[in-house]
Amino acid sequence: MGERPPSSDRRPQRRREEVDQLGGEPVCWLPRVCPECGRLAENEPPTRCENCGTLITLD
Ligand SMILES: [Zn+2]
Repeated sequence: MGERPPSSDRRPQRRREEVDQLGGEPVCWLPRVCPECGRLAENEPPTRCENCGTLITLD
């Protein structure tokens, strides 16, 4: 016990810079952007783009 290093497994996500650029808005909407037309879906994925009907997933 005490041999393990502190929990350095947690890699800080470098999206912070993007957040700053966006004025502090959370980036949780990024997965919502339609890969086909770029429209922002109103619902969290998986959902369908209201513009073109493309299925938006978390991938
Ligand atoms: Zn779309």
